[in-house]
Amino acid sequence: MKNFRFTALAQTLDRQVPPVNYPADKISDYFGSMVFNNETMMEYLTKEAFRSLQQTISSGARIERRIADQVASAMKAWALRHGATHYTHWFHPLTGSTAEKHDAFINPLPSGKAIEEFSGSSLIQQEPDASSFPSGGIRSTFEARGYTAWDPTSPAFIMEHTLCIPTIFVSYTGESLDYKTPLLKSMDALDKAAVKVCQLFDKNITKVYPTLGWEQEYFLVDSALYAARPDLVLAGRTVFGHSSAKDQQLHDHYFGTIHSRARAFMRDLEIESHKLGIPLKTRHNEVAPSQFECAPVYEEVNVAVDHNQLLMHLLDKVSRKHHFKVLLHEKPYDGVNGSGKHNNWSMATNTGENLLSPGKTPQENLRFMAVLTIILKAVHEYEELLRGSIASASNDLRLGGNEAPPAIMSAFIGEQLTKALDEFENLPARKNLGNGNGKSVYLSIPKIPEILRDNTDRNRTSPFAFTGNKFEFRAVGGSANTAKPMVALNTIVAEIFDRFYAGVQEQLKAGLKKEDAVFEMTKKYIRESKNIRFEGNSYSDEWKEEARKRGLSNHASTPEATKAYVSEKVIELFEKHAVFTRRELMARYEIKLDKYVRKLQIESRLVGDLSVNHIIPTAIKYQNTLIDNAKGLKEVLDQKSFVKLSRNQLQNIKEISEHIAEIRQFVEEMTEERRIANRLESAEEKADAYCNKVKPYFDKIRYHVDKLEMLVDDQLWPLPKYRELLFIK
Ligand code: ADP
Ligand code: MG
Repeated sequence: MKNFRFTALAQTLDRQVPPVNYPADKISDYFGSMVFNNETMMEYLTKEAFRSLQQTISSGARIERRIADQVASAMKAWALRHGATHYTHWFHPLTGSTAEKHDAFINPLPSGKAIEEFSGSSLIQQEPDASSFPSGGIRSTFEARGYTAWDPTSPAFIMEHTLCIPTIFVSYTGESLDYKTPLLKSMDALDKAAVKVCQLFDKNITKVYPTLGWEQEYFLVDSALYAARPDLVLAGRTVFGHSSAKDQQLHDHYFGTIHSRARAFMRDLEIESHKLGIPLKTRHNEVAPSQFECAPVYEEVNVAVDHNQLLMHLLDKVSRKHHFKVLLHEKPYDGVNGSGKHNNWSMATNTGENLLSPGKTPQENLRFMAVLTIILKAVHEYEELLRGSIASASNDLRLGGNEAPPAIMSAFIGEQLTKALDEFENLPARKNLGNGNGKSVYLSIPKIPEILRDNTDRNRTSPFAFTGNKFEFRAVGGSANTAKPMVALNTIVAEIFDRFYAGVQEQLKAGLKKEDAVFEMTKKYIRESKNIRFEGNSYSDEWKEEARKRGLSNHASTPEATKAYVSEKVIELFEKHAVFTRRELMARYEIKLDKYVRKLQIESRLVGDLSVNHIIPTAIKYQNTLIDNAKGLKEVLDQKSFVKLSRNQLQNIKEISEHIAEIRQFVEEMTEERRIANRLESAEEKADAYCNKVKPYFDKIRYHVDKLEMLVDDQLWPLPKYRELLFIK
């Protein structure tokens, strides 16, 4: 019988590093060459059209039909010149990946010839047959159609000879069916609320936009080994596998030399990314063997999210050429680190400032303190929503592991800032305020910028850490669409900006000076948000206990964590800021639970199939060899020697039988639980059943399978082992 594991290993060992087509030019020469960016627009558009489009982008105003026609025609000319034959609206449905439906530019003429056509209306709006995208019941009850609409704030690009136009995706009745629509709305909410507060300090600030720099972690595995693991193929993670004798305990992979196959892959990936304007800058080995990370320079959130979605697509595409498979799953292998996607988030202004950069003057420092505490207060007040925003079946396996942020949300700000906040809180008002001549008299730490860099970023265990001039939301999963946590973060911060502003107004009415009012509100928020700050080890059991006392939530599973989205408090929040309607939230809740159930259903079937069709037959085959061997021994040995010498074999035979029996029993029980769960009507009950009744069998079964892996002849074992998946390249 053929053992695919050995065929796969032979293939892997035979791999040559494919040649990378290094462009002759410098990166700066081809960066963004496949993007319809400002420079290209200026070249292809009339001055009027260019200005009008810029106006639309910055103000969100509706674009005139006439201008849209001009833009479409310019895009077409540019795209044709770059070899594009098709165009597509490119959007992020709630499946989590991106969607596209290509149309050729071609239009037949009566003469039998054809011309290339692309009109303003095709650019602005399309009606893809959307009935197969998740809608949480929104479309089935009302309208079967949905439409996509151009998002001019994220530039169009050419990928694989196709002009891709970033779009939103909404139902005919106006509900959003994608990730981008609420993201744009949340950015708008944040802009409005933050500008009001910023104007208390500086009237020149008229626009505030969130910025995001993501760090994407991933694993590489050879495509042949991958193909020999049905669990990797169907679930993106290994459901079985005994740990390798060596994995990450020597800490020799992190920042180590990138091996030649991976390096060639990364180089190719970067070339493709740079052409598409994704500003990839950093690449390095991560902690686990075969784990890597790449990160771009930060961008405005909407563009950064699009770029992350594109990058995930490119990872997959480019890896094929290199005979790799990229694993984005949060926990592809048990026992070694999983993959996250740290979201570095801050807010920038039209005046070119970063609102989380501590300033040089007391005035600026007061603003910094206010913004910082507004964020802390937002995280405190809506910690459950933030937790919910990063919940998924796959991220559940990573959160709370010993290397990953815990499921308890808390914020880390470092020792110096903690000291600064403590001092601030204890200052009596007014006379301690800055005197405006550059001397800070209200804080004993006037030079925040210099010390921050060294004193933050030390605590790697925090899910939400201040790292010098931004917050790093580390609990986001490696495979997630980052729009979701960004929507949550933007909206909760918008809400607290709003409340802060209202509080200041009240104080002003009560006769306080503006600065004093800001000072008082900041003090109040420092006090009120104290419980979200935690500087210690977030992985520790003491923290779990302490967090419980502080009233912070600790939702270990997706069904539990997702409930936050339909709490009255959160519905009110999102409705107030026009980010989601109640109906949209309810629909998304359904979709989320449904997806969770389907994922666990697939995994449960995999666990069952692999056990019954791969593991048990292999174990029996080996057991038969042992039985034959024992029989033979009995023939050739005298009774006394046989009893003495066959003890191990007999013990092995027994152990294997016991493991097989346990596996069979558990698979049967799990299948029964699945049947019961499948019959449940409500999405909530079903998700709970899959989480609490079906899922616990995964580990129970795995325990025995992994034991068998250690008992059975290596030559017979059908699935590539951890030491091979993680180390053979
Ligand atoms: P590291 O976390 O590895 O020390 P950095 O802190 O320099 O690296 O940057 C990590 C990411 O944070 C990068 O993508 C970077 O562009 C991003 N980043 C830096 N400043 C900001 C900011 N103001 N807003 C959002 N992201 C930022
Ligand atoms: Mg970082």
